[in-house]
Amino acid sequence: MKVLVAEDSKYYQRILQDTLSSWGYSVEVVNDGIQALEKLQEENGPKLAIIDWVMPGADGLEVCAKVRSTINKSYIYLILLTANSSKEDVVKGLEAGADDYIVKPFNEMELKFRLKTGERVINLENRIMQLALTDSLTGILNRRAFMGRLESEAERCNRLGKPLSLIMVDLDDFKKVNDNYGHLVGDEVLKSVAACFSSFLRKYDFIGRYGGEEFIICLPEIKAEKAESIAERLRVSMQEIVVNKQESPLKLGVTASFGICCLNEKVQDVHILTKKADEALYLAKAKGKNCVIVSESS
Ligand SMILES: [Mg+2]
Repeated sequence: MKVLVAEDSKYYQRILQDTLSSWGYSVEVVNDGIQALEKLQEENGPKLAIIDWVMPGADGLEVCAKVRSTINKSYIYLILLTANSSKEDVVKGLEAGADDYIVKPFNEMELKFRLKTGERVINLENRIMQLALTDSLTGILNRRAFMGRLESEAERCNRLGKPLSLIMVDLDDFKKVNDNYGHLVGDEVLKSVAACFSSFLRKYDFIGRYGGEEFIICLPEIKAEKAESIAERLRVSMQEIVVNKQESPLKLGVTASFGICCLNEKVQDVHILTKKADEALYLAKAKGKNCVIVSESS
């Protein structure tokens, strides 16, 4: 795990760098509060930081306060390093937003376990974020997370004048699978479909579970025509899916209907894009299912 050390004393910089590295942390050292804030604001910046109280630029209290008021993407665990051990100062530090503090000169073991506490908090946050963003059955994005990512991806493509295709998929007659084989097999089918679709996607494409047996796929920088041929491939390959029922393989030949819409001058809003793809999906159902329809608005 990355740890930021913001400390102006060369002596403490070296001690912290050496000790933390020997414990397996990857250490980034900066000399003042301004640089500390810059590092912590980076996209994949450290989530664990040891901040000296007295430093040029911005002092430790300012850094803590600024982190709490401006950085809210993910939690940053802040340990204030201080020579002030009076109760009053400790309270001041915690009030500014520090999670913990260590008094100089510090005891190595104490530092080690305080860092461990921070690490536990960061790992817990990562797990919660993971749970909040993924669909627990299939492991792909849930609807909320998918729509959030779609918003930013669509904004990027609109800005660059690039296409973006959206595919809505709904399994055909899925209720029959549940009724005939039970919900456990139904769940296996959903997992297998998600895995099958995912295996066809490029690394910048993304897929989400939109509802019960509905999936949604975003293909950035892909035109409707290309999206149609990709959907066609998904449609054909998913019919080969085999699931296990009481340890024996079962090929159910489950099919799906696909609706596609692509961003363009008229369709720039993701809600309209989603609605148009959904309408195309509805047409695919009306046409007899197990087919791909591209929205006329594409
Ligand atoms: Mg100092």
